Amino acid sequence: PLVLGIETSCDETGIGIVRGRTLLSNTIASSMDEHARFGGVVPEVAARAHLEALQPSIDAALAEAGVTLDELDAVAVTSGPGLAGALMVGVGAAKGLAVSLGKPLYAVNHLVGHIAADILTPDAEPLEYPTIALLVSGGHTSLLHVRDLTTDVELLGETVDDAAGEAFDKVARLLSLPYPGGPEIDRAALDGDPDAIRFPRGLSRASDLAKHRYDFSFSGLKTAVARWVERFEADEANQGTAVPVADIAASFREAVVDVLVTKALAACADLGVPRLLLGGGVIANRRLREVALERAEAAGVTVRIPPLSLCTDNGAMIAVLAAELISSGRGPSTLAFGADSTLPVTEIQVAEAVPA
Ligand code: ATP
Ligand code: MG
Ligand code: FE
Repeated sequence: PLVLGIETSCDETGIGIVRGRTLLSNTIASSMDEHARFGGVVPEVAARAHLEALQPSIDAALAEAGVTLDELDAVAVTSGPGLAGALMVGVGAAKGLAVSLGKPLYAVNHLVGHIAADILTPDAEPLEYPTIALLVSGGHTSLLHVRDLTTDVELLGETVDDAAGEAFDKVARLLSLPYPGGPEIDRAALDGDPDAIRFPRGLSRASDLAKHRYDFSFSGLKTAVARWVERFEADEANQGTAVPVADIAASFREAVVDVLVTKALAACADLGVPRLLLGGGVIANRRLREVALERAEAAGVTVRIPPLSLCTDNGAMIAVLAAELISSGRGPSTLAFGADSTLPVTEIQVAEAVPA
């Protein structure tokens, strides 16, 4: 089926068009620059930007794919999770588009969309089930057990406080590096020693593991970095010495990467699943990919990493998830759905029409 997907859960206005499992276009307009001076995504600003970017993005995606609205078999949209106001803009646009065109509408889960992105990876073998998926972005840090993309996705664990990307952004700010912090920390870490400072690995003590084996926590790590910098600056012996940003960045990054990879591979081992799929914008982190590939190989686990343009928020992953739902015989959603900022990952499609 020919599907147009609309994604507006955060700061990217993503419009993607797929035909079955083939990617035709994937336009992304980001309001990142508008959030930079606030050091994080401002929901109201993001929503406004979506409203302005939607129409031109849809036009650009159609032109690039070489298709017209009339030819579409369905429209797909992210219903949640994400920023409520931002989601509402996409949901409203999708409903209007589907109704005016008389086309079926599929309201789908953003996190499952991140997994579906794997399908569009050029030259990839089909995804094998079950697989463990680790999704890390500015808004999410989730570990999933995927038995079937369209019917059975289980949440194993998630962050209990900050998302991994959020931690990168906050620590960058603390080190006076610009937003978004991920790429900045990555760059600063190049000249740093990852073993210079031993920062805490959240929820990794034996006592934590009993209840939070697959959960993450990054706010304690952020605080540890802040304390370390404070102590360094307060120490008489360091007067006139600059804060060792490279070592802090490298050591902080190592702590995040270590805990992400350790927990993901623990899930693979515990559940006997030798496959790990990575997704989300933090996958751009070179060290994360390196450590994941290295340790997975040692553990006999194969790792799949979609190209970055499919890892960050985009409309094509939403379109292909809907295409998979259609191919597996699922009916469209009714219009009785809205934006659900906390939509659980088990709800792959929302408001599916009950067959008469
Ligand atoms: P969502 O959480 O809804 O998926 P998002 O917009 O917050 O959306 P992405 O766009 O997928 O997330 O990713 C952005 C996040 O990824 C930011 O927090 C950014 O700092 C982080 N990031 C980007 N590049 C890197 C990198 N090289 N290393 C670490 N983090 C990175
Ligand atoms: Mg983003
Ligand atoms: Fe996302």
